[in-house]
Amino acid sequence: MGRRGGAPASDPLARLVYGSRLLGAEPDLVLHGGGNTSVKVTLPDLTGEPVDVLYVKGSGWDLATIEAPGFAPLRLDRLRALLRLERLSDTMMMHELRGAAIAPGAPDPSVEALLHALVPHPAVLHTHADALLALTDQPDGAAIVGDVFGDRVLVVPYTMPGFDLARRCAEVAPRDLGPRVTGIVLMHHGLFTFGADVEEAYRRHIELITCAERHLAGRPAARPTPDAPAPRVDPLRLARLRREVSAAAGGPMVLTRHDDPDIRAFVSRPDLASVAGRGPLTPDHVLRTKRIPLVGSDLDGYVRDYRRYFDTHRERRGTALTMLDPAPG
Ligand SMILES: [Zn+2]
Repeated sequence: MGRRGGAPASDPLARLVYGSRLLGAEPDLVLHGGGNTSVKVTLPDLTGEPVDVLYVKGSGWDLATIEAPGFAPLRLDRLRALLRLERLSDTMMMHELRGAAIAPGAPDPSVEALLHALVPHPAVLHTHADALLALTDQPDGAAIVGDVFGDRVLVVPYTMPGFDLARRCAEVAPRDLGPRVTGIVLMHHGLFTFGADVEEAYRRHIELITCAERHLAGRPAARPTPDAPAPRVDPLRLARLRREVSAAAGGPMVLTRHDDPDIRAFVSRPDLASVAGRGPLTPDHVLRTKRIPLVGSDLDGYVRDYRRYFDTHRERRGTALTMLDPAPG
């Protein structure tokens, strides 16, 4: 992965905005709304007393377009105190995170704010990079990650983001974050890198992802590109599909068609339904992609399956859940 430079010489929050936008501009690193970043600074409070503050991405903001008000300023000592708890429900954690804000109009902090707080380094960047997930999602993913990165990363088994993940990381960090460690690999989830400033954390992020990409480039392509050009599709059929998807989504949708070589190689696989139905690269993508794509054009069947899937699992978190629209994508 190529590295971009030229960060503005200004305050840490401005540099964080700049670095976050660089990450957000790469769909290989984060999908819209995914990933999060932070920086730790010391600010005077209303009384003039210095307070250690974590500026962490607020939910609802996208890294590609984030601005300074998109980061929630939180009291670092309060966040670290929460990490000493044995247990904390999702609802209580969000309540406590909001309560740790030093600005009344701050956005709701990312659910991964506690993980940012426990890392001792000033700057922390987190993405769900495709290349990294392509390593961790192998049957022997942990061994591959060990081969590729050696002792440069700490590896943490998959845990759903929130208090339990932060607590799990707190058990090994910062004790195991020695000077050679530049990142944390969360299996089936993503990458954290950190540094003395955003520039260093960004450089380390790109270095580790480039390592993953080199490893993948050495493997044979899954399928050769088909020789035949993409077949023509009746525009009226596409228009009908767009109308049906819009009706299921509850709003007008835009339909685009892609037939580049990678897409053609993928959709021409005889086992397409099987490989496309195994879920996204990481659960974090579900919000953008749904659990599985629609293969073919049986939209009614897709909507039925999605409702059934939601009803089957709606009780699992012990809190009231609201179903997303049942349209694919
Ligand atoms: Zn994440």
